[in-house]
Amino acid sequence: MSDTHAAIEEAHERYRLEREKRLRGDGNDQYTQLEGNFPEFDTDPWADPEFSRDPIVETTEVVIVGGGFAGMLTAIELTRHGIRNFRVIEKGADFGGTWYWNRYPGCMCDVESMTYMPLLEETGYRPTERYASASEIFGYCQILGRHFELYPHALFQTEIADSQWDPETQRWSIETTRGDKISSKFFVLAGGLLHKAKMPAIQGIDSFEGHAFHTSRWDYQYTGGSPTDPMDNLSDKVVGIVGTGATSIQAVPKLAEAAKQVFVFQRTPAAVGVRDNGPVDPAWFDNLEPGWQQRRVRNFTEVVSGKEPDEDLVNDGWSKLMSVDAQKNSSDPEEIAELERLDFEAMDSIRQRVDATIDDPELADKLKPWWGKHCKRICFHDEYLPAFNRSNVHLVDTDGKGVHEMSAAGPIVDGVEYAVDALVFASGFEVTTDLDKRLGFDPVGRGGVSLSDRWHDGAHTLHGVLSAEFPNMAIISIVQAGFGTNFVHFLGESAKHVAWLINECAEQNIAEIEATPEAEEAWLGVLYSVVGGVARYSQFCTPSYYNSEGSQSMKAARNLVYVESMIDYVAHLERWREAGDFPGTTVVTNP
Ligand code: NDP
Repeated sequence: MSDTHAAIEEAHERYRLEREKRLRGDGNDQYTQLEGNFPEFDTDPWADPEFSRDPIVETTEVVIVGGGFAGMLTAIELTRHGIRNFRVIEKGADFGGTWYWNRYPGCMCDVESMTYMPLLEETGYRPTERYASASEIFGYCQILGRHFELYPHALFQTEIADSQWDPETQRWSIETTRGDKISSKFFVLAGGLLHKAKMPAIQGIDSFEGHAFHTSRWDYQYTGGSPTDPMDNLSDKVVGIVGTGATSIQAVPKLAEAAKQVFVFQRTPAAVGVRDNGPVDPAWFDNLEPGWQQRRVRNFTEVVSGKEPDEDLVNDGWSKLMSVDAQKNSSDPEEIAELERLDFEAMDSIRQRVDATIDDPELADKLKPWWGKHCKRICFHDEYLPAFNRSNVHLVDTDGKGVHEMSAAGPIVDGVEYAVDALVFASGFEVTTDLDKRLGFDPVGRGGVSLSDRWHDGAHTLHGVLSAEFPNMAIISIVQAGFGTNFVHFLGESAKHVAWLINECAEQNIAEIEATPEAEEAWLGVLYSVVGGVARYSQFCTPSYYNSEGSQSMKAARNLVYVESMIDYVAHLERWREAGDFPGTTVVTNP
């Protein structure tokens, strides 16, 4: 056996052991809802609590739920088809979605600005940095809102209270928490992929007497500072942070600079690759050939999903680490062995980086990720690991168990109580849980059947977009749909698809469209037909939202994503549109 082969075998054994430590029967149910339990964690720190407006009563063509990139891009695509009769209903007080809510210190986008920030050629905006800060992206969302004249369509600080399909009018009857009554032909659910904060169910959490909040509702009143200014209230404070995912690794270095002491509670170490951020060169940017952004966006997705295009335009940490799809569906043992070798080498480079950065070898061991590169989202940062060399930063490694006990003073791990003044939950967001729970409302379709009832055993969709019994309802969510490193690429393609559908229905005088149950099952078959490589790969995967926290329930089996490249998912949508006769749907055309 070669040395490399032995090292791969050893790593696989370690992956398996680490996975077993973390597997738990409750999957997604290990987390608890904010509503009811932690209402103060769910309030909007950025909105004017005194805001009020008169309710509106109106008839419109489209109601879009969500003013993040998914909702904005759908609205923009509608305007490109000449449809301006739409409403965007948004819980926050502005556009932005993820970038409205997430203003934690250090928050930035780990996907290159030129591929992540949509429609740069249309708006003429030049990002300042290769990886833009959250503040810049939020500002850009406002620019999009102004440029495409979306603000007059928006109902902010407003949520859906009730939504029912009315067979008489062939429309959705929608009521909001501000008393609006809207009758709409189409209902687009663009409520966000990472919008619903999740909290670990920790015994004794209610007894905690310190201050606590979730990263997506950062409490600057407590910490001082702002997304761009240092947190000047923390110099005498001991702060704990639960979680070491993509959010935490960005916030920890800022907490390390500001707080007296920082305790980082780790369940699974993050994989942290090289970031190498820097300013965007104006001369380079201004000389890009027209059409550059679409080419770059597509090229990046091709590269990071193993399509191996001739060139790598972005050429960054993502493209270096993810250029080979180690989950590829293959039955050739030699090819599989080669994929395993490449996956091992990619993750080993990450582990070597930990050794090279962390002064204390024992601490370095605890910070090393023992999982394959497709098991969780890889992170990129240049200040996270060095923060652990500081004397005021302490890793509390829970060896896969997580924090599950707390006292009035703080988390208890292995019988040791960690007294903290403040505890920050960087515990992530619901991604593959029930759609109605993530949206915060439960649409009622044909025959008075709610979405939660129809989907009690998991999602039923065609392409993740249309669903039987829910006429004229289009969903933008990764469940049964595309998935990839650059979410905004997926959202842009979904928005195009949904706007095309709405426009075609208008042009062809179609009053109702929904998927057939047969087409939904056929689509599930397509999703399963490409899952083989993932099943092989996942046997060594530590649980995460990528795999419904390791759950093997029927619901988790249905709530999967299209695991092959997003490029292939988009090709499915394009072929469907090109067919011209809406295959797999029931269509009602009015005389
Ligand atoms: P994640 O779900 O990635 O991370 C949550 C963290 O909380 C994990 O480390 C998890 O551990 C940990 N955790 C959960 N329960 C416990 C517990 N009881 N005790 C200790 N730790 C616990 O959420 P994030 O907010 O970090 O990121 C979510 C997603 O948001 C990312 O995957 C990414 O897609 C997106 N994001 C993107 C960014 C970007 O730059 N584009 C930046 C930030 C986020 P475990 O790993 O064991 O489950």
